[in-house]
Amino acid sequence: MIAEPLTAGAYLRRRRESAGLSIDDVAVLISVTDAWVTFNKALVKLIETDEHVPSPGFFDRLRGAFAFDRFVYEQLVCGPRPRHLHALRRRGRARRRSSLHRSRLKGTSMPNDPILPGLVPPLTPAEYIRLRREAAGLTIAQAAKPYYRRPEHAADVEATLRRAELPGAMIREDYLVDDYQRAFPFDPAVYRQLRDEAPAHHPTICRSCGCTSWTPCIGRDGEDCSIGEGLTCSVCEQKAHRRSQRRAA
Ligand SMILES: [Zn+2]
Ligand SMILES: [Zn+2]
Repeated sequence: MIAEPLTAGAYLRRRRESAGLSIDDVAVLISVTDAWVTFNKALVKLIETDEHVPSPGFFDRLRGAFAFDRFVYEQLVCGPRPRHLHALRRRGRARRRSSLHRSRLKGTSMPNDPILPGLVPPLTPAEYIRLRREAAGLTIAQAAKPYYRRPEHAADVEATLRRAELPGAMIREDYLVDDYQRAFPFDPAVYRQLRDEAPAHHPTICRSCGCTSWTPCIGRDGEDCSIGEGLTCSVCEQKAHRRSQRRAA
């Protein structure tokens, strides 16, 4: 019998279980107030099923609840474990690779880092929706406008849109097809792939604007963008370049 390869989430689950803690226990331990317990419980579940990668702050709180090796977790998040990992580790290269990934987790790395796509945590459907909204230049309040006529409904609609961007959120299929397209464009097929398929089968997505090779953005030259190794598309790279030039001027 061949054992399933250990995933980052499964690793955390094992460590939690060997500490004798249930998910509920952990949620209570890491919550600052009772109001957070339910939310944190949902988040821990998602982390253990590899549907969410914790932020550095959340990660530290988890480490306060039970013991696990951050290095092992990050290696597992980075994707399939390369066979030569032990040799690399001995030579100290793995640590460098891990620190690259760590900087990704913190969101501090530059888009042009020579980082392999496999080292970036998978994009969640919720993050994809946020990227597309931001790429359209809309705040939640602006994105909510096409959905209501009476101002007293605004808060409700805004809360719904905000929920769709929370970790683990899934937009209902019927909303996905017609409704959500009203505010900003995104590809429901991409959303479904991120939701239903293993990270290895996810499309390549620009981590700045959420475009893909099926739904590329159009550059100033009228050409489709292309997505490079840093997982930023050429149009976003050009925009970032223009911004930095303006700043320098
Ligand atoms: Zn882009
Ligand atoms: Zn693009």
